[in-house]
Amino acid sequence: MNRVLLATAVILNEWRSMHPARRPGAARSWLVPSWPSGLLLSCHGGRLAAELAGDHILRAHVRARLGVAALSRVDVDALDAQVRGMDLREGSGDGKGAAESAEAQQVDVNVTRALIAGALVDPADTTAAMGARLLGLLAEIPDSDLVQSLPLDHAGAAAQGAGRQRIDGPSSGQQDQSGLRQDVAQLRRQARISAAELRRTQTELTKAQALADTLRGDVKRLTAERDVARAAAPSRRQRQQLKDAARLAADLKKARKQVSQLLHERETVSRRHEEETRALRNAVAKAETKRDQAVDARHRLEERLGDLPGRAHYLQNLLKGRIAHLEANLAGLPPNRTRSRMEREISQLCGLSEHIARVLQTTDPQLQAELVAGPPAGGMADSSSNEDHGIGSGVGVYRPAAHASTDRGLRVEILGGGNEIGGSAVLVEAGGTRILVDAGVRPNADSPRSAAPPLIAKAIEGRLDAVVVTHGHNDHAGFVPKLLDDQRQAVTICTPATAALLPTMWADARRVMAQQADDAAAYGWLAPLYGEAEVEAAEKSMRPLTYGRSRTVGALTIQLFDAGHILGAAGVVIRAGDERVVITGDIFNLPQLSVGAAQLPPKLARGADLLVIESTYCHSRHRDRAGQIQDFVGAIAEVVGRGGRVLIPAFGLGRAQEVALMMREQLPDVRVLVDGLARPISEIYEREANLSIFTGRVQRVSNSRHRSRLMRSFHSGVVITTSGMLSGGFAVPWAQEILPDPHSALFVCGYQDEESPGRALQRLATRDDPAAPATLTLPTETGLTTVSVAARVETYSLSAHADRDGLSEIISELAPAQTMLVHGLGREQKEFRETLERARGQRTVRNDRPWSG
Ligand SMILES: [Zn+2]
Repeated sequence: MNRVLLATAVILNEWRSMHPARRPGAARSWLVPSWPSGLLLSCHGGRLAAELAGDHILRAHVRARLGVAALSRVDVDALDAQVRGMDLREGSGDGKGAAESAEAQQVDVNVTRALIAGALVDPADTTAAMGARLLGLLAEIPDSDLVQSLPLDHAGAAAQGAGRQRIDGPSSGQQDQSGLRQDVAQLRRQARISAAELRRTQTELTKAQALADTLRGDVKRLTAERDVARAAAPSRRQRQQLKDAARLAADLKKARKQVSQLLHERETVSRRHEEETRALRNAVAKAETKRDQAVDARHRLEERLGDLPGRAHYLQNLLKGRIAHLEANLAGLPPNRTRSRMEREISQLCGLSEHIARVLQTTDPQLQAELVAGPPAGGMADSSSNEDHGIGSGVGVYRPAAHASTDRGLRVEILGGGNEIGGSAVLVEAGGTRILVDAGVRPNADSPRSAAPPLIAKAIEGRLDAVVVTHGHNDHAGFVPKLLDDQRQAVTICTPATAALLPTMWADARRVMAQQADDAAAYGWLAPLYGEAEVEAAEKSMRPLTYGRSRTVGALTIQLFDAGHILGAAGVVIRAGDERVVITGDIFNLPQLSVGAAQLPPKLARGADLLVIESTYCHSRHRDRAGQIQDFVGAIAEVVGRGGRVLIPAFGLGRAQEVALMMREQLPDVRVLVDGLARPISEIYEREANLSIFTGRVQRVSNSRHRSRLMRSFHSGVVITTSGMLSGGFAVPWAQEILPDPHSALFVCGYQDEESPGRALQRLATRDDPAAPATLTLPTETGLTTVSVAARVETYSLSAHADRDGLSEIISELAPAQTMLVHGLGREQKEFRETLERARGQRTVRNDRPWSG
């Protein structure tokens, strides 16, 4: 029985040390492995038996370990009887029964022990429970009896075998009773020690459990902390990003350093530049002061001189004329008092003339020097990079001086050609800069003085910076050489084509004036406006400017646009700050054979503050141009067809080329002669406008011999020659030749001045009595001549000026704030102005007073 209980304890202890997953049954926490077997049997035998009774797996293990077979039925019944018998004895409480059957009891105990041992490991729960119960009852039997009855060596043997074997055991009487008692006492001591140890162990266990709880709490807390720390720790990507950010920060720092270094360097450079600029400005200011002083001095000088040289020249001419006259008279006189008086007078006049010549030569050296060298350099400059350069090189350039008006606004004043056709001159000023647009002569002037624009003195009284020439006609450009003689610093701005035409035009004007001067020399007062030297100087002053490009002169910016009319004709747009004035010059908005129609630049010219527009034909409407040409050509064809000649006196520049081209195109079989100024001008047209004029039957008259020959031999065809108003040129000899011929014709085309022979001829043609004899007075080289007029005389317009409708169209298209009419007749302008104001809502301004924005 004890072996069963001990084996049970051993198995339970084994289970306790096993991993829970491999453990066959439940571990018992109450069992302490260190307990000795005596303690186990004495104190925990019942508990072990109870474990066996409640756990069939445990029983099977013990059974297998000890090789104990299950009880037979008989043994089970005997066991049952034993249990019941023990219960009865217990219930009777009969004390003497125990003593009476001590021996039988002994036997019973031995047998019972064997039975109990078998029952404890029996597969059946009830049997095991009975065994445990019986063991519990036996425990109440005194220890000595029990111990005596425990033949440990035989207990196993008793359980072996299938049959019931009575365990008799060795005789208990052979055991030394006192030794047993000692053993029991020792066991009890051990039991007490074990109990104490158990208590201590339990206390320690409690402490350990408390510690374990604390540790578990710590573990839990640490785990939580670890999780938090893990969550807080950056990921690999974040670490990479942090690394990148750190690198970027380093780069940024480096870049900042470089930027600050650059800034520092730039500041240093800019400081240096500022200092240099300041120094330059100071130098410029000093230079300007000096220049202004010089200019003031010059102007004072000029004021003092007035037009002394002009008067002196005039006087000189007068003297020369008088001397020549006296000398001529002297030639035939005998030596008498009259002769000696005249000789005395001649000598006095010669002395006076020499004196004047000396005065002229020594007129203020400073003025002479300035006139030769030109005034100090200054601010005429080209404004845009795409334009022609060269103004100012070698020519006196001029910057507005301190004496001039410092008003920045535009000021426009008509100095000539306002209410007449001829002597055009428009003064444009701003910020001290002064420009004259056109400087023309008045046709049929009876003296050089009256040929100038009436108010030209206003332009000459101050310094002019530039003259802009709109086109080559004399009424716009003829006065330029004279003007430049007074204003040598000024440059002439015009289109390249006009620049090509002007020398020829000026040379012709000079020739005509020289002729007139020679004719009038006898009167002693008429000197030409200019000579070869002035024309040459004017040619040198030319600074061509192509259409659309801009040039700045002081405070003004100049741009030219195509005005149609004739080769090179330009309208001018002049700007000063925000203000603009547009000056059309002569303008024609229909195409011709030699030039196209005017090209108004909307961006440049539209919406200007002032439009100064010509008004030659503001009172009339041109007939349909194609119809006019048809009539004109038809009339020529008629005359020529009958074997006659047609003389067409035409302006040498423009009209002559237009008529020649008409002939070449529409009457190619008719012989055409181009004579006078028209010839070289046509050659310039061929060159500059890429036209072919002298082809087919159109022929030039090369020289006077050729002309004389032709006058005799040329009987049928057309002669185109200058001047257009029969006031001079080769038109006069040709008219002398042709007018008396009834088979021939003279066709007037173009504007005729009221005083001109051309106008007189027109009046003659429209006289009340066509049958009355007609004569015309013509100015020839030898004086006035009268010729009879038998030839057919007709007038064709063929104008190259815009008419009333054309002008209205141009004004509408340019939409200026204000319009000023020039280059027309006063009464006609007045009527057109009223029409513009009333019918078209345009604002117009008078041309006889200065305009300022
Ligand atoms: Zn013109």
